[in-house]
Amino acid sequence: MIMTDGLLPVAPVGVAILGSTGSIGTSALRVLARQRERFVPVALTANGNAAALAAQVAEWRPSFAGLVQPHDDAPSGWSRGPACLIDAASHPDAAIVINAVVGAAGLPATLAALRLGKRVALANKETLVVAGAIVTATAHEHGGTLVPVDSEHSAILQCLAGRQPHEVRRLVLTASGGPFRTWPAERIATATVGDALKHPTWTMGSKITIDSATLANKALEVIEAHHLFGVPYDRIDVVVHPQSIIHSFVEFVDGSVLAQLGVPSMELPILYALTWPERVPDSGVPSFDPVALGGLSFEPVRNEDFPMLTLGIDAGKRGGAAPAIFNAANEEAVAHFLAGRLSFPGIAVRVAAALQDGAAAAGGTLDELLAADAAARAHVHAHVHARVGS
Ligand code: NDP
Repeated sequence: MIMTDGLLPVAPVGVAILGSTGSIGTSALRVLARQRERFVPVALTANGNAAALAAQVAEWRPSFAGLVQPHDDAPSGWSRGPACLIDAASHPDAAIVINAVVGAAGLPATLAALRLGKRVALANKETLVVAGAIVTATAHEHGGTLVPVDSEHSAILQCLAGRQPHEVRRLVLTASGGPFRTWPAERIATATVGDALKHPTWTMGSKITIDSATLANKALEVIEAHHLFGVPYDRIDVVVHPQSIIHSFVEFVDGSVLAQLGVPSMELPILYALTWPERVPDSGVPSFDPVALGGLSFEPVRNEDFPMLTLGIDAGKRGGAAPAIFNAANEEAVAHFLAGRLSFPGIAVRVAAALQDGAAAAGGTLDELLAADAAARAHVHAHVHARVGS
């Protein structure tokens, strides 16, 4: 669809980037800057960072720019409010939508793009955690395509190329282990926001960086992998790999194991999500030097010290509204942690309580999932403010 046998397209393929001012969004624009003959950004959106969006608009001159939050200095030609995400995703010149928005706010735009039969290069993993069954059914029904940007899922997609589902025994997602991998439990309990924002191998937005410290991110990724690849939860494992060089493994039924390796740069999975199933030349990622790596190591996850991983995977297994509640409670708890209103261990405490509170919530329809999401956020918010206020 996008390329033809390695030839350049007649005209560059239009790309909408939702969340263009963030970590993934700016990486995506760096990829596009090297691939000007193949891709062109036609729509860019930001949440509230009008200055960063204005600089991108000045450089790239997209036909659409959207800002979600109200802003006095936003130029009159920009689209405003949350609907701008859907408008950007539906832009007639955008064959590909890179969804690099953070949080469940990215879901409606993913659905809009899939309903129009587009390719969604999905960084916004929350889309699949909140409504995985609905999102994959929408893609199927309308001929849309979901291609992961997450490095672990990109690795699995690359390992699975040409294979049939019945040939797969197990997926093994790698996790860096985050900044607290070697910390004893008593020290983790005292972790500050500054400690949690120091990721050892990746530079990312603040929400996913905290999710990497709690291992909630890996739970979100297990749920994402379940929906993307249709593999049951009991055949998806996680292993800690501190160097973040092997991005994931696939074990096949004959016992053979394939892995995808690369230096930790999101530009590679972003490019692959744009060109999949083809590969194109790119100068952005340095050549791989195995000798310089010095060694690769693996460890089991310390489940007891990082309860968010089990909480999230259990929510995935339970299904219904549980993954949406896990995600929403986590988003809210992380925001309170970043604002200094909640301790690091308090994130898991509040998420567990929200899951318990919403145990009977229905999750069969999109409206029910969005209601469960809202209730979980309100639950966390009320409890954090009750404690801060007391
Ligand atoms: P950032 O926080 O760096 O960027 C988020 C982007 O989304 C910004 O452009 C921001 O705009 C915009 N945004 C934030 N909130 C909203 C909202 N409510 N509605 C609309 N737009 C919003 O995040 P990342 O780039 O790190 O992550 C984006 C997504 O990609 C997440 O789902 C994350 O889990 C996933 N991901 C990220 C990786 C990484 O390396 N960073 C790796 C793999 C996955 P503004 O600048 O105006 O605030």
